[in-house]
Amino acid sequence: MKGKRGLIMGVANDHSIAWGIAKTLAAQGAELAFTYQGEALGKRVKPLAQSLGVELVIPCDVEDIASVDSVFETLRKKWGQLDFLVHAIAFSDKNELKGRYADTTRENFSRTMVISCFSFTELAKRAAELMPASGGAMITLTYGGSTRVMPNYNVMGVAKAALEASVRYLAADFGSRGIRVNAISAGPVRTLAGSGIGDARAMFAFQQKHSPLGRGLTLDELGGSALYLLSELSGGVTGEIHYVDSGYNIISMPRPEDLKN
Ligand code: NAD
Repeated sequence: MKGKRGLIMGVANDHSIAWGIAKTLAAQGAELAFTYQGEALGKRVKPLAQSLGVELVIPCDVEDIASVDSVFETLRKKWGQLDFLVHAIAFSDKNELKGRYADTTRENFSRTMVISCFSFTELAKRAAELMPASGGAMITLTYGGSTRVMPNYNVMGVAKAALEASVRYLAADFGSRGIRVNAISAGPVRTLAGSGIGDARAMFAFQQKHSPLGRGLTLDELGGSALYLLSELSGGVTGEIHYVDSGYNIISMPRPEDLKN
């Protein structure tokens, strides 16, 4: 990744998936810029950025379009161009990440969709404008609750379904410019966002136990898959939802003997 410049959005702390991805990309020689949401998180993100030698650390709340524009204005001034984008941002009201999907409110439905889905479209458009004629790459993070019902995932599952559809439409929009757009569908990882989902512990334990690999994921494994999707290693791949979930998505039902315990 030497000579490549990328924007990492979604580091909250050293458990964040975006952090795992950033570490891998930096180790491969990429030059990175980070965004952070609000000064409270900034206090955690700035030292992490510093530890990787990241100089550009910019505030951004995707609900505020002026702050989104200002990120790209900064990148335009400082770098002039961008080679890749990592979007690892999601939010929904914790009170609606439990119970029935049917009880989702209109207000939280809209907010969840804007932050967790539409922000990728808005950011992708701006990132593409900064990408060179030789092309570029973008990824977002999704979860299998987009296609199959996971207890309590509710409105976030609906947002992830729309996010995955956005990946395909954006891949089609930008393909002629050599810009590739993909998603990583990650298995459960213990992060701030992950712990907001009702009964998260039980869900994590069930998926780990009943996945073919029978274990959880490391941030390094997610970083490795991101490196593949953002580098020429995946030069022919776009519009894909790439599962990095210990194989859980291929399982229809657990082995009966495993259900007895
Ligand atoms: P995290 O809490 O570390 O990261 C979520 C990030 O979203 C934070 O950095 C937060 O600041 C940012 N964010 C939320 N609202 C924002 C806003 N309005 N403006 C700007 N940033 C905002 O958790 P994570 O698990 O690393 O989440 C990263 C992505 O991975 C999310 O899209 C999440 O849905 C996805 N994902 C997580 C898991 C999991 O089990 N943790 C599994 C699959 C997919």
